[in-house]
Amino acid sequence: MSELWLSLTDIPEQGQEYFYSEQNVWTGPIEEFELPYAIIDPIQARVFVLLREKGCLISGGLNGRISLPCSRCAEDVFFEFEQKINIFELLPEEKNTEDFFGPEFLRWNNDNLELNIGGILWEQFILSLPDKPLCNEGCMGICPYCGQNKNSQFCNCIREKEDPRMEIFRHLKVKKD
Ligand SMILES: [Zn+2]
Ligand SMILES: [Zn+2]
Repeated sequence: MSELWLSLTDIPEQGQEYFYSEQNVWTGPIEEFELPYAIIDPIQARVFVLLREKGCLISGGLNGRISLPCSRCAEDVFFEFEQKINIFELLPEEKNTEDFFGPEFLRWNNDNLELNIGGILWEQFILSLPDKPLCNEGCMGICPYCGQNKNSQFCNCIREKEDPRMEIFRHLKVKKD
């Protein structure tokens, strides 16, 4: 996960706004985890941080355009996203950075309260991605028998294997142009 710790010590009472366009917040973990994503239009994030008695309110959003593989045929899919951020992180109870069960994104660094804004921006990016991206709704995927991308060329594998009525055609030569 991306780590970019923001000190909350000097945040004004009415909160503070931050902008992030440094792409390595996202390209770092993409490379680290060898994820099949490429950033097409740079990701921009706006984050508003407001400190409360019991925690920290983080709101804003991020947007950009990436490419990722189609879940059926593995061809590139371009995906434009806009993700709203609206989360509340509870303060760690002890001034103890070793607290195993402590909140993920807030920590005490000596007497400084810090927010892992990099981790939040990475998590929000992942949340914005589709579960099963498709190059188009009717994508026919890859033939499990011969590996052919069925969007670009037909193959006869499934028909031959699943439909006994097709048996008779097996010995016919199909003329291709
Ligand atoms: Zn596809
Ligand atoms: Zn096939």
